[in-house]
Amino acid sequence: MTGKIAVFLDRDGVLNEAIVREGRPYPPKNIEEFIIRQDAYVVLEQLKQAGYYLFVVTNQPDVARGSTTREQVMQLNTTLASALPMIDKIYNCFHDDMDRCDCRKPAPGLLLQAQREYDLNLPKSFMIGDRWRDIEAGRAVGCKTVWLNFDYQEAQPKVFDYVTVSLKEAGEFILRRTHEV
Ligand SMILES: [Mg+2]
Ligand SMILES: [Zn+2]
Repeated sequence: MTGKIAVFLDRDGVLNEAIVREGRPYPPKNIEEFIIRQDAYVVLEQLKQAGYYLFVVTNQPDVARGSTTREQVMQLNTTLASALPMIDKIYNCFHDDMDRCDCRKPAPGLLLQAQREYDLNLPKSFMIGDRWRDIEAGRAVGCKTVWLNFDYQEAQPKVFDYVTVSLKEAGEFILRRTHEV
C-alpha cells in the first residue's frame, strides 16, 4: 500500500466558524459570514510539513434545498483556498438525503474520490469533523477520527479516536499519532 497520508477536514465548523442558531450549526451564506478559524493556517501548515495531503470534504445540501447556489458555495471555497493555500483539493457534495448519492457524508464517496485520485493510505489517514456525519464517513473508510465537539443540540458521534474543542489540539493529536498508526 502507498505511503501517501491525508487529513480530511470538514469545512463549516472546522476550518471556518459555523453559524449556530438554537444550538444547531449552519453554513455561512456569504463572505461576511465566512470567518476562517484563527488557528487554521498554523495547524494546516504543521500537518503539511508532517507529510499529509489536506482535503476538505464538505456537505452543502442547501444547494439541493435551493437556499444557496453552487456558485455561492464555490466562492467561499475560493476564499478558503486562497487563505489556506496548503489545501490540496476541496470536494463538495451538493445533494440532500433524498438524492441518495454516494458522496453525502456519512457516505464516504468524497473520501474515496480523493483516495482514487491521490492513491492514499486511508488507515493511516485522519478525518476531522464537528458532526456525526463527518466521523461516520471517516470510520467507513478506516480513517482515524477526531471530533470537534461544540455541544450542538443534535445527534452526536458515539465512536471516535479523539475529541476536543480546539482545531489546534486536533492537529497536535494527529502529529503525535503520525508515526504510530
Ligand atoms: Mg461541519
Ligand atoms: Zn452527494
